[in-house]
Amino acid sequence: MIGAAESADDCDVLVVGTGPAGSALARRLSASGQRVLMLERSPPVAARRREPAWRIGESLPGAASVLLRRQGLWDRFLADGHVPRQASVSVWDTPQPAWTDALRDPNGPGWHLDRLRFDQMLRDAAADSGAQRAEVTGAIQIERAGAHWWVGDTGTGRRYRAPILVDATGRHAAVCRRIGLKREAADRLVAVHLLLPPTQEEDRCTRLCADAQGWWYSVRIPSGRRVLCFHMDADEPLLRTLRDAQALLTQARSHSLLRDVLPLTGAGEGEGAGEGEGVRLQPAGTAALDLRECEAVPGFYAVGDTVLAFDPVASQGLFHALACAESAALAISRELAGETAARRDYFAEMMQVQTHYRRRLAEVYARPVRFRGEGFWDRHRQATGSAPRRQ
Ligand SMILES: Cc1cc2nc3c(=O)[nH]c(=O)nc-3n(C[C@H](O)[C@H](O)[C@H](O)COP(=O)(O)OP(=O)(O)OC[C@H]3O[C@@H](n4cnc5c(N)ncnc54)[C@H](O)[C@@H]3O)c2cc1C
Repeated sequence: MIGAAESADDCDVLVVGTGPAGSALARRLSASGQRVLMLERSPPVAARRREPAWRIGESLPGAASVLLRRQGLWDRFLADGHVPRQASVSVWDTPQPAWTDALRDPNGPGWHLDRLRFDQMLRDAAADSGAQRAEVTGAIQIERAGAHWWVGDTGTGRRYRAPILVDATGRHAAVCRRIGLKREAADRLVAVHLLLPPTQEEDRCTRLCADAQGWWYSVRIPSGRRVLCFHMDADEPLLRTLRDAQALLTQARSHSLLRDVLPLTGAGEGEGAGEGEGVRLQPAGTAALDLRECEAVPGFYAVGDTVLAFDPVASQGLFHALACAESAALAISRELAGETAARRDYFAEMMQVQTHYRRRLAEVYARPVRFRGEGFWDRHRQATGSAPRRQ
């Protein structure tokens, strides 16, 4: 039993995971006087040797400015060189490109981020507010004893104790899995992506394109390089082919919307290529925590992707991470002050987020009617509940 040992690092809130949601939560809580300890996983030795030069997930909607201001991070964010987005152009509902701009959005078009810098800024901001950090090098052991959570790290042998425990480990949902909470994956969407070497073009639009087997997007990030990403189902036979960078690029170039901005060759190879090259594959589908079950676990919260991992077509994951960190910070402070309704309010809000998201996602996948009968689209219409009912 972890809690049987005499000594432990004590705090009010233990946050496991230091992505945007965990960092934003830690900043808010420590700024309001709570003692917060953030547990971050140390990368495996092999991964440390080849530090990732970029991270996918670079589009931040303009509405996030409100949250960044409330966190007191607006000037810091502006100084970090993220690039304002321009219009979006998509081939989605019909084969003709449709342009969307943010002229009528009071928050503006948003940004294309240097994602690693953005995540680091939030991590540093949490530390500046007084949140402590500790590295986890082994497996985590978790148990609840009395009014406290105990977390043990088998790597360092250290133990941590707090009345409140938060899972902010993103899609891994590492703490939820460890304590047996259910998280349901709605589909088998994966993202196959590539960072292209810098090119001469200066296009700042988001380009989105549906095709029979899935959908593409491409944006130029602040380094001047371009992200190319295809979303498809994990069991699609084409996946094997598209794990080759040149094959992915060639397939993307079959769409004129993408061809306009993509180079002919040079995907991840040769001059101009740097770290982070090669096709990467990662899960990208909707996955949602069972919130009723979670609410029933005393002193336990989840934030960000752990609560709801968005399909990237929504481009809302980062906004959600910041917004739900704010809501969780409020609920946790209330709970620590003895307000019993605090957890109920938080989980009810997250339930609404999940419901609203599912409705919007169903609309998005229903729209390219020209792909009715294609496996990818039929499966996603089925999964989102937007498939036409059989008579
Ligand atoms: C292909 C793709 C494209 C995307 N594009 C966009 C986009 O354009 N715009 C957008 O807003 N969102 C996008 N997203 C989603 C966005 O990246 C996530 O919503 C966001 O990162 C969620 O933040 P988080 O803090 O919840 O989780 P994460 O950012 O995943 O952070 C989780 C943290 O927990 C750590 N961790 C994991 N396991 C453990 C453990 N056992 N112990 C300790 N720490 C652990 C991880 O190392 C990480 O630091 C995209 C996602 C995908 C897959």
